[in-house]
Amino acid sequence: MIHMNDFSAEPEELKKAQREAFESVMNSGYYILGPQVKNFEDNWAKTLEARYCVGVANGLDAIEIGLRVSGIGSGDEVITTPMTAFATVLAIVRAGATPVLADIDASTGLMDPDSAKRCISKRTRAILLVHLYGQIKAMETWQNLCRDHDILLLEDCAQSHLSRWHGQSAGTFGAWGAYSFYPTKNLGALGDAGAFITKDEALDKKARQLRNYGQSERYHHPTLGMNSRLDELQAAILSARLRFLESFTQTRREIANIYYDGISNPLVEVLKRPDAPENHCHHLFVVKTNRRSELMEHLKSHQIESLIHYPVPIHKQKSLQQVQHDPQGLTQVEKYAETCLSIPCHPHMTRATATHVVEVINRFV
Ligand SMILES: *Cc1c(COP(=O)(O)O)cnc(C)c1O
Repeated sequence: MIHMNDFSAEPEELKKAQREAFESVMNSGYYILGPQVKNFEDNWAKTLEARYCVGVANGLDAIEIGLRVSGIGSGDEVITTPMTAFATVLAIVRAGATPVLADIDASTGLMDPDSAKRCISKRTRAILLVHLYGQIKAMETWQNLCRDHDILLLEDCAQSHLSRWHGQSAGTFGAWGAYSFYPTKNLGALGDAGAFITKDEALDKKARQLRNYGQSERYHHPTLGMNSRLDELQAAILSARLRFLESFTQTRREIANIYYDGISNPLVEVLKRPDAPENHCHHLFVVKTNRRSELMEHLKSHQIESLIHYPVPIHKQKSLQQVQHDPQGLTQVEKYAETCLSIPCHPHMTRATATHVVEVINRFV
């Protein structure tokens, strides 16, 4: 079976580095917010050329913490996309704010700036961009839109590790960026982990307090925070895995190129190819087809796994049916959710396997 991810195929060198990381933390007797966390925060900040990085428990918390340190809460509206992981919108709700959903551009699945503009009201405080599947695009458009309306630009980077726009890393374009290191992300821990990044010293300080009960120094609590600490074990594992991220990302790009160059079936449309390789880290490779269930069956019969990201847009979720959205509706995303399909694209696939996937897709009738 060709899977969406294959951890068992990871290089021996990486497995060894992880065992050493584990051993070193176990022997240190330091398990929460210690030197490994500090080391990973420094490593990740340096990789992204971000000034500050705060390790937290997961990606959902990273977004919630970001909203809270920006003073966004009850009565405030945050514009985002309905084509995302549920956590993006859940974080807005958990911060006490009101999500407002804009429609997408069906050629990429990314939020449409014109629709986002129609969602702006007197209560809008921010636009929360999601670099879906690893795509980063038109950042000047978003920066200008936010500047013109005096609102914050925020980035959900859970899928965009090492994606860059004109050499600048995802997460560094607005007030802050939120990363997830859930195991299947391009940089993943062996459990839950996340990070908050910012260039603003005050936000960094507030985020550090918030992740640890709102504590400024031991047993002093100027604010009411949460428990969203990153543990030493995950931080040590992340530092070990980070050393492989650049080459793994390069392999993902090569697999994606085989797909872009090879898929030629008129029944299957690939999403828009990025303008430059750096604009995409290929967390997922997504195609669209009007005959999705048949294509999934066809792939499965050739031992190829596929998944849908995402089958249910946020406004169709039972818990969020009353959510606010673009007054002109969300027609693009509704159609998109019925046609999108993710095919295997991970760094432990061979070029031959990718070519085989292309051939199987091109034979689909
Ligand atoms: C995975 C993901 C999250 C949530 O991250 P967790 O670490 O699972 O909490 C948020 N947003 C997007 C776009 C994601 O893909």
